[in-house]
This record gives sequence, C-alpha cells and structure tokens, in this order.
Amino acid sequence: MAQCPCGSGGAFSDCCRPFLTGKSHAATAEALMRSRYTAYVRRDRSYLLRTWHPDTRPVTLDVDGGTWQGLEILATEHGQAADASGTVTFVAHFASDAGDNGTMREHSRFERLGDEWFYVDGDVKGDGG
Ligand SMILES: [Zn+2]
Repeated sequence: MAQCPCGSGGAFSDCCRPFLTGKSHAATAEALMRSRYTAYVRRDRSYLLRTWHPDTRPVTLDVDGGTWQGLEILATEHGQAADASGTVTFVAHFASDAGDNGTMREHSRFERLGDEWFYVDGDVKGDGG
C-alpha cells in the first residue's frame, strides 16, 4: 500500500486521497495543508484551486517543474474543526529540475467556510541551502 506523500505515515488511500477526490473534506487546517502538499506532489491543479479561498484564488496555477520530497509540519495554531481560521507553519523539501535541493518554509493562513477549510495566503521563505 502506497504511503501518503504528506508524510502522515498513513496510506494514501486512507489519508489525503478522499480529499483530493472530493469524497470528504479535511476537518482541520493541518489536514487541508497536508492534502494540498499531496496535491502539489501529484500535480493536481484542480484540487489546489478548489481549496483556495475564493478571495485570494489565482486564475491559473503552475504546478510543473521540480520534485517535492517531503513535508514537515512545524506548528499549527487554531484551525481545528470548531475554529473559523487557523495557521500552519511548515517546511517543504524539493529538488529542482536541475537537481538542486532546496526547502520552502511557509506560514500559511486558512479559513473555514461552512464545513470546508480553504487556503488563504502565506508568508514564504525560500532557503537555498
Ligand atoms: Zn496524506
């Protein structure tokens, strides 16, 4: 059974897949963040746009190029099922097409609309080494 790319340790079929297919919604901001990372790994543009807050959603999204190699959740604040908003701080590891390894650290903001969580925006810090 394939492990989920989000690094939860669970199987993809039981972890992020139900979110990506629309079968269920992520119950917390962290679960949504993990599923969005998995969507980047799988280059699932439609899921990324679908889970972007309508106020900040881009028209198009480039998910090509590079390879995502791992996700670490550093911190979460609020973002539980009963909260209206929350933040997740994470580091994502990637390799560029040229073969360079890098990390991206982001402090992301999420909002809940009804029973669904949406990505609003984030402060990104790149790291060349
Ligand atoms: Zn997952």
